[in-house]
Amino acid sequence: MHELSIAEGIIEIVERNAAANGIRRVSEVRIAVGELAGVDIPSLEFAWKSVTRGGAAEGAALVIERPRGVAWCLDCSKTVPLPRYGSPCPLCGGFHLAATGGTEMRVIDFVPADGDGLSA
Ligand SMILES: [Zn+2]
Repeated sequence: MHELSIAEGIIEIVERNAAANGIRRVSEVRIAVGELAGVDIPSLEFAWKSVTRGGAAEGAALVIERPRGVAWCLDCSKTVPLPRYGSPCPLCGGFHLAATGGTEMRVIDFVPADGDGLSA
C-alpha cells in the first residue's frame, strides 16, 4: 500500500526532527501533496492514524496542502493548469504536456504541542 509507506516516511522525518529539537509531543504536521503526486488523500489520512500511534505525533492533525498541477504545453508554448495526468491542454485541447508543478510530496513543518520544546 503506497500511502502507508508515504505516511511512514512522513512520521520518520517528523519524529527525527522532533527528537533533535527536544520536542516530545507534536500537535500538528503540515505537508504538501501536489495534485499530480499520485497520492490518494483519504488513504494517506487513514495510514497517518496508524503510523502515529504510540509516538510523538499520536493524535496530531495532518494538514495537507495541495499545490496545483501545472504543465508546459509544447503546442501553445505556455504553462497551463493540469489537474490530473491525461487531461488535455485547456487552451488547445492537445496532449503534448510536460508536468512542471504539483508533483511534489514533502513535509512543510510541524507544530509542537503547547508548552513543549522549541518551535520547529
Ligand atoms: Zn496547448
